[in-house]
Amino acid sequence: MYACVVHAAGDLRIEERDGAEPGPGQVVVGIEYGGICGSDLHYYREGGVGDFRVREPLVLGHEVVGRIVAVGAGVDNLSTGTAVGIHPATTCGVCAECVAGRSNICAYSNYLGSAARTPHIQGGFVQELVVRADQVRVLPESLELKTAVLAEPLSVAIHAVRQAGEVDGKRVLVTGAGPIGLLVVAAAKRSGAEYVVSTDLQETPLRLAAQVGADETVKVGDGRRLEDIDVAIEASGTAGGLRTCLEQVRRGGTVVQVGTLPPGDTGFPGNLLMTRELTLRGAFRFAEEFDTAIEWLVEGIGLAPIVTHSFPLEEARAAFELASDRGAASKVLLEISGRTPR
Ligand code: ZN
Repeated sequence: MYACVVHAAGDLRIEERDGAEPGPGQVVVGIEYGGICGSDLHYYREGGVGDFRVREPLVLGHEVVGRIVAVGAGVDNLSTGTAVGIHPATTCGVCAECVAGRSNICAYSNYLGSAARTPHIQGGFVQELVVRADQVRVLPESLELKTAVLAEPLSVAIHAVRQAGEVDGKRVLVTGAGPIGLLVVAAAKRSGAEYVVSTDLQETPLRLAAQVGADETVKVGDGRRLEDIDVAIEASGTAGGLRTCLEQVRRGGTVVQVGTLPPGDTGFPGNLLMTRELTLRGAFRFAEEFDTAIEWLVEGIGLAPIVTHSFPLEEARAAFELASDRGAASKVLLEISGRTPR
């Protein structure tokens, strides 16, 4: 079988890997679609994301769906052929954070396709992926797999919105209209936000923001002052985006950082936080929001415009290049199963 592996910045390879048998309590999923995430792009382009660096070959990918192809001993609630989504995290279950229901910040978490720890946790852009049975969620046949692949990033977005507190009836700013920003827009609207404004440097992603429910879109740099923003969610992963959130949110408002900022220190206008008594919260990955995301996808919340392109696994480099062009693409998928890459 084949996998999409990053070795260093700019060095992405399709490599042959040995297939694996499921151990007790595990299943093997034949991966059909994988979504390329901003973090995958950072690993590819820069050899790292945030403060995590690639130190050994890393199979990328954590947004993956497919069908079960083998079931290990002791797994009696799943069978081959079943369509499944995969929760990318396995957590310790016993630390203070896990016990408090915040397993997304478990210090002992393993996350598919992540260089957060060494040895790295190999990812899901592989034809057959071995996971724990409790990581899979059975998907209804009515849900197309290429829609279901949005469950993972949608979970990130739902968690970011929840970190802001109650948004029902509120006015929300979302900086950055990449896939996560777009999903935050949709999640905020689905959560009852009265008004959502999306900002970005480029026109193309702003058009998508309008399609997924933004009430207004604003191109960064036009000098607009936004009125009465209760909650600002930073999804651009830039110091400028964070500044915009801190400046534009109302006094006493809440800012959530979900975008991954560049490595190292970020210039931070802390006096805005102090003098305006803002609340600043982080949002990292997600926990049980994965189940909510699948429910919302089954319900249908109009996310189709976000998936702009799909490439077979053997064209992964072209897929990664296109996904890096924010003026041309939003979420780019890899079609992984049933192909024999060259
Ligand atoms: Zn834990």
